[in-house]
Amino acid sequence: MCLSNHKYILLACILLLLASCGGTPRSKTPAVPEVSFSGDSAYAYVAGQVAFGPRVPGTDAHHDCVQYIGRTLERMGAQVAIQTGEVMRYDGEWQHVANICAHLPADSAYQGEKAVLLCAHYDSRPWADQEDDYAQRMSPIPGANDGASGVGVLMEVARQWALLGERKRPVDIVLFDCEDMGTPQFYTGKQHEHTWCLGSQLWSRIYVQQSAAGNRQTTSYAFGILLDMVGDPNAAFPREYYSEQYAKRYVEKIWHTAEQMGYAHRFVSTQAYPITDDHYYVNTIAKIPCVDIIHYVPSDTGFPWWWHTHADDMSTISPNTLQEVGRVIMVVISE
Ligand SMILES: [Zn+2]
Repeated sequence: MCLSNHKYILLACILLLLASCGGTPRSKTPAVPEVSFSGDSAYAYVAGQVAFGPRVPGTDAHHDCVQYIGRTLERMGAQVAIQTGEVMRYDGEWQHVANICAHLPADSAYQGEKAVLLCAHYDSRPWADQEDDYAQRMSPIPGANDGASGVGVLMEVARQWALLGERKRPVDIVLFDCEDMGTPQFYTGKQHEHTWCLGSQLWSRIYVQQSAAGNRQTTSYAFGILLDMVGDPNAAFPREYYSEQYAKRYVEKIWHTAEQMGYAHRFVSTQAYPITDDHYYVNTIAKIPCVDIIHYVPSDTGFPWWWHTHADDMSTISPNTLQEVGRVIMVVISE
């Protein structure tokens, strides 16, 4: 992902940084349901991906990781399909894309309910273009936080889904490819637009085509949640601008749930600038309201110090952070 180039929005948002006043009387707040989620298990799923090496599209590590994720989700009872296609990348070349799509069915009594879309990206950035040392920039990043962390949480969500006493709505887990192939900093050739999030652009366009064609298999979604960089011990998730613009009621729901669970330090009430991430295309092309839970900070790049460097390895992953994010997701999809 990258910062939006809508600089005017950025400036406006910085000026509008707001702190929550928290005026809702607590006595009217319903209790949060008890949920189960293992941060240690999610951590193991993150490590399982990172062990393949950088999951750069076209490499054996990428291929083997798709197999690992797909088979693991199938063992948990998910129906898994790989959606493929070709998308133009930053330099005008065609890029093969493989999105992993997993369906977790509702109990038969709830078959008519709208689904929830949970998503993350599993590819690794091919370049460490935020490294200070130029010689370090041309090799791929481990992508433990930037990619694998969100996938690890959602794999554990799938495992817990099978253990729930009642499944009140279908859940689709979509793991996008080629999120992180956006124009590298060192590229000086002709610039193309929309070079990030290639997998979610493809998925969203296919979703629209299938809906327009009246395909009875097309899933109807209530809302979506995207996880990106959700593993740092000090992760903080501000209310991202596009999420507020397109899916405000779900931002309110998720952040309020997190506050009730004692995670207000993680799901902070700050409203922050726009991020061009997979949710942008799910919102604008597929028109599914989708919230981005993403760790970003006031810094030169707008992201944590390890972002798009070789330091984005397992040392940046905390089972505790994964557990807090996972527990919030479990509550939101269990209601
Ligand atoms: Zn990235």
